[in-house]
Amino acid sequence: MKVTPIPCRTDNYAYLVVCQETNQAGVVDPTDAPPVIAEVEKSGVDLTAILNTHHHHDHIGGNNELLERWPGLVVYGHQSDKGRIDGQTRFMDTGDTFTLGALEVRTLHNPGHTTGGISYVIEDAVFTGDTMFAAGCGRLFEGTPEMMYTSLCKVIGALPEQTKVYFGHEYTEANLRFAAHAEPGNGHIAERLARVREMRAAGKFTTPSTLAEEWRTNPFMRVDSPGIQETVKKNDPGNDLSPANVLAVVRAMKDKF
Ligand code: ZN
Ligand code: FE
Repeated sequence: MKVTPIPCRTDNYAYLVVCQETNQAGVVDPTDAPPVIAEVEKSGVDLTAILNTHHHHDHIGGNNELLERWPGLVVYGHQSDKGRIDGQTRFMDTGDTFTLGALEVRTLHNPGHTTGGISYVIEDAVFTGDTMFAAGCGRLFEGTPEMMYTSLCKVIGALPEQTKVYFGHEYTEANLRFAAHAEPGNGHIAERLARVREMRAAGKFTTPSTLAEEWRTNPFMRVDSPGIQETVKKNDPGNDLSPANVLAVVRAMKDKF
């Protein structure tokens, strides 16, 4: 498998995923068609599928134009996003699999940011859309804190630690600034923030992350850590410190940060 990030608009990432055995490819979350078409032409691959992580326009905006160009594209999304994803032809749920060339793709339902959020697991990588970001998570537009906790820590979090995390937006530096505020004593966050600042100053993408790195630095996955819990107690003295209630307070703090 070869994965190429395609930066779109100000901070979105589409990804071209290529099966090197068959030269077949899929595109994850085509924000807009032109940069995707350019990458497909440059690499000379055979685009056969669109993999949408959720229905938001900055993740499906290129679907229709790509379908005009390649009418046979298979379009994957969660079953509950029926009617919300342009051109959707396949309706997936947790545990469903399909093939992209010779690659096996496994889907995980990840409600929280939206009710139809889905991640795609391919070999040692997971494409998380706006569910898991580097050091962050999406806003809770349609789901509950409990759903987001389960999606991040129990469903995506059940994958091996070395799994590469390909996320939907380049928010890493701002997320780490918030993470340092939420858990000031965490040296991994300070170290990662310094590294990410250098990468961004040099114009580099911070994608992919790894699950191991997220467990160390993502405040929304560190709901059990004493540092995060101390911050939550200060902001919400009556909090019972259940994972969902901790995540709810951290998410509310981030929304205002
Ligand atoms: Zn979104
Ligand atoms: Fe988005």
